[in-house]
Amino acid sequence: MGIVSGKTALVTGAGAGIGRATARKFSTEGAKVVVSDIDSTGGIETVRLIHADGGKAIFIQADCSKPEDVKALIEGVVEEYESLDCVCNNAGIEGKIAPFAEQTIENYDAVMNVNARGMFLCLRAEIREMLTSGGGAIVNLASIAGLIGFPGIAPYTASKHAVNGLTKNAALEYGKDGIRVNSICPGGIDTRMLDSLAEQTSDGQQSSQQMMAPLHPLGRIGTPEEVAELIVWLCSDRAAFVTGANIPIDGGYVAQ
Ligand code: NAD
Repeated sequence: MGIVSGKTALVTGAGAGIGRATARKFSTEGAKVVVSDIDSTGGIETVRLIHADGGKAIFIQADCSKPEDVKALIEGVVEEYESLDCVCNNAGIEGKIAPFAEQTIENYDAVMNVNARGMFLCLRAEIREMLTSGGGAIVNLASIAGLIGFPGIAPYTASKHAVNGLTKNAALEYGKDGIRVNSICPGGIDTRMLDSLAEQTSDGQQSSQQMMAPLHPLGRIGTPEEVAELIVWLCSDRAAFVTGANIPIDGGYVAQ
């Protein structure tokens, strides 16, 4: 028996990276999974991987920053699987690296639109649904940039601090309704996003491993599978007394 056996799990941004690893982990721990992403190619591939492992999953395309997409997504989950028990709000973008004084309004708006506004829209729709069905558990992807500042990525840092704030409010307001809401704050994780940040920082001279590993006390970056472990555990009944937390999973980064 898996730790989320019989539950329905929704993962946004599940067409790649941490989202894909999380969707697969939900499945191996017994959940029926709704894979959602703005990118249908990646999302459909995640579903294929879950089916190949013998799991149950469907793909629903959605841009998490569009209210109409988010509404249709939650309706689609309930139509297919009848309930929404577990959610990982994972979709996010990194934006462009620049010193604060050179950041553009366009980059600020683009990053906040997906990472903060999209998070608000998804959380609100998920809570509305969970209120009708007796509760559930939600994990939001923040970042260590939601706990501390990072030169060069001010919009991303602002958006991830917003994720941690939204998480606390949702947890406080709906704990008594049986809804737990937590966020996790990963350090450098081996995905396309980290490669993009390393590429922008070093003009392609250094890999994300070379740049980021020495900055972490464990001496390496993390894997999407390590992050998925924490997310699925937080959504399971084993984490029944955990809510409103912003939990680092960062190889010791923010302890420095
Ligand atoms: P990734 O770029 O590999 O995957 C992100 C996925 O989100 C992609 O499949 C993309 O298509 C999807 N997406 C982007 N915009 C979307 C939108 N508007 N609607 C729906 N889907 C959308 O990135 P990742 O590294 O797997 O990141 C996942 C989450 O983890 C993000 O929120 C990111 O900020 C966070 N995070 C990543 C790291 C890291 O080092 N990789 C560290 C801390 C936090």
